[in-house]
Order: sequence, then C-alpha cells, then structure tokens
Amino acid sequence: MSKKIAILTSGGDAPGMNSAIRSVTLSALRCGFECIGFYHGYNGLIEQEFCSLSAHSVTDITQQGGTILKSARCPAMHTEEGVQQAANSLRKLHVDALIVIGGDGSFRGLEALWQHWQHWQGTLIGLPGTIDNDLAGCDNTIGFSTAVNTATSAIDKIRDTANAFERVFITEVMGRHNGHIAFHVGISCGAEAILSFENCDPNNHQAIEAQLIAAITKQQQKHGSFMIVLAENLWPGGSQALKAQLNNQTEINAAMCVLGHIQRGGAPSAEDRILATELGIAAVEAIVAGTVTTPTMIGKVQGQLLQSDIAEILQQQKPVSPQWVKRYQSYLAEL
Ligand code: ADP
Repeated sequence: MSKKIAILTSGGDAPGMNSAIRSVTLSALRCGFECIGFYHGYNGLIEQEFCSLSAHSVTDITQQGGTILKSARCPAMHTEEGVQQAANSLRKLHVDALIVIGGDGSFRGLEALWQHWQHWQGTLIGLPGTIDNDLAGCDNTIGFSTAVNTATSAIDKIRDTANAFERVFITEVMGRHNGHIAFHVGISCGAEAILSFENCDPNNHQAIEAQLIAAITKQQQKHGSFMIVLAENLWPGGSQALKAQLNNQTEINAAMCVLGHIQRGGAPSAEDRILATELGIAAVEAIVAGTVTTPTMIGKVQGQLLQSDIAEILQQQKPVSPQWVKRYQSYLAEL
C-alpha cells in the first residue's frame, strides 16, 4: 500500500541533516511512497508550508551543511493549541509517517504530537541530529563528528599562533550541558587542559584556577603554549571571565576564542553522511515493516541499528564515559 511520508528538520541544525533527508526520500520513492518536506521545523507543519520531495530535489545535497528544509524553533509547539494544529495538518494532508531529524527538544515535540495523533495510527520516528551528541540510544548523533572535526581544525590553527607567542589560549567549544565535544576536541588537539562538566565542579572554581595556574607555570618553563578547551555554559561568565581571572592573578597573558556557530556549519564529514544515510534508510524500513507503534528513535550503537522508545530516551542521560575522563586526567598528569 502506498504511503505518504513527511520529513522535517528541527531545533539546532547539524551537518548531515541533508544526507538524512536524501536517504529518506530516495528510500521512500523506491518503495513507491510519496515524500514531502515541511519547512522551518514544526512551524512548517503547523502552517502547512511544505514541498514535494523528488529524487531531483535531493540531488547534490549530501555534501551540504545546514538543511534544505531549513530549521527553526517553534514556540507554538509548547502550547496545546499549536500541537493540535500540527496534528490536524498531518491528518489533513493524509500523512502516514512523520520523520523528525533533531535533538531532544524536537523529540519532545514528537511526544507531544503523539498525544493528539495516535488515534489515527500514524508513525512518528526521530533521527538523532544534533552536534552535541547528548542523546541516549546512539553512540553518535548526526553532526557530532563534523563539529569535532571543525573545532579540531580551528584549534590547530589557534595553536600555531599560540605557539608563536608561547601563550595561554582558552578556546570555548559548544556542547550545551555536556562535554562530548569538549573531550573529543581536547584530546584530538592535544589540549593541555579540558574543562568540562565531567571533570570540573562548578562550585570549586578557585581550586580549578589554582591547578590551572600551576600547570601553566610548569608548561611555560618549557617555553610552550598552553591550550585550554572549555565547554560552553560551564564557567560563570564563560571564557572571557576565565581569561580575566587568569590574567588578573598572574603574569599570564591569556587569550581566548569562542568558536561558536562555526561548529554547526560546513560540509558534513564522511562519517556523518554515512550515519545519516543509514538511519534514513532504516527509518523507511521501519515504516514498511509497520512495527513502530509509539514515537521511536533510530540510532546506531556499537555498529548495530537500534530502535528506542523516545519517551525512554528522553529520561536518560548520555554522559561522557567516566573511564574515558579518568584516563584522560591521568594522561594529563604526565604533561
Ligand atoms: P533541539 O531539537 O536541537 O534540542 P530545541 O530544544 O530548541 O532544539 O527544540 C526544537 C523545537 O522542538 C522547539 O522549538 C519546539 O518547537 C519543539 N519542542 C521542544 N520542547 C518541546 C516540548 N516540551 N513540547 C513540545 N514541543 C517541544
């Protein structure tokens, strides 16, 4: 039986979203399904602003960052009326399955939608798309690998100038409230210090500052630069405040850089493109199988595709592995 599949991208955009749109579209068309894309996240669903997705419309998009469907926040989804409107759109347009590519907020939107749509037996699927990698049920989210690569190459460049001046540099990376990006980037860049939620107690700033100053002093005797990778939202006042505190207390002339949205853009890495393609195919396979009865996320864990109940995913944390943090700390002690 032919089906109508709709896709939208929501919340923080992530490189690789286009690969997922492409793979859902091509897989759906191969099954003889119709495929449409809503623009601007849930806004397009509510406003019924959409396009028909054909093989032609997804040609040459897999290598592009961002999302051809655009992304947005949609405050209306936080209201009963807005969710009702979104569900009405799905019914009116005879959508059989909706695939949302986004992060935990977008998945909460799917849960809300489910309350209004379930009686029509529609299928709701989430694909994990966020650079922050903060969703359980998958090893990596779509966009994480690219963000780590982008930040790594940016910090490599910062390192050159830091080396030239033998100076301390604080580089702030994204990640919302976890250190997946900070730890991966810090390790890949050979940072002298990583300050993140997993290894820093936010109530213990003075002790952290003292440790940093001791480590910097030791390193400066070797005439080297000292790279600190700082997770966003960790330090009160951010990297600007940390720089001021270090500079006020010592002769250290630290500089800082907030990498910011550069981490969300750029051509997706091969890893993200492949992951997004696999997840898109798996989403359509799940629709064909007809086994998805509640909002479900499809992710990849240890090389295996995994379907998880979104309600459960939203209850879980995905911290950076404590063993990894510990191992890194002992490696740092050798510097
Ligand atoms: P992300 O998906 O990247 O985590 P957000 O947290 O901004 O991004 O969420 C994206 C959108 O998902 C929001 O603008 C809103 O439309 C929808 N959303 C988020 N939380 C909820 C919620 N609790 N109920 C309904 N919709 C939500």
